[in-house]
Amino acid sequence: MTCPREQEVIHAVRSGQWAEGLRAHFAECEACSETAMVAGFMLQAAETAETAAPEAGFVWWKSQLRARREAAVRAEKPIIVAERAVAVAALLVGVWAAAWFSSESPALAVAAVGGLILAGLTAGSALLYAWSRK
Ligand SMILES: [Zn+2]
Repeated sequence: MTCPREQEVIHAVRSGQWAEGLRAHFAECEACSETAMVAGFMLQAAETAETAAPEAGFVWWKSQLRARREAAVRAEKPIIVAERAVAVAALLVGVWAAAWFSSESPALAVAAVGGLILAGLTAGSALLYAWSRK
């Protein structure tokens, strides 16, 4: 359903100036009321799009920030893997030392304490190094 006065209605919506005859026609014509609604929506959307467009410098800054964050996440991945490996190694050493402590030889127990201290120092310093990199 079209109306020959639709172009006049679109012009009136854009300019905000309604001729008296057009206003009377608009009140009774279904096609023109739909046209006015769509034209008003399109006009509002165009104005919103214009005001919502951010400045180029802001977009550039945001993209730089995002690139830096993504690079930091990529750089942290091997550190996280190393942390977990050290934690697993420390746990294995602990289990191994506990098994060794439970054996009857005192010389082996002394060696186990030394090995445990050495392993603990190594794991601790590796963890400190990994955490200090964050
Ligand atoms: Zn009409």
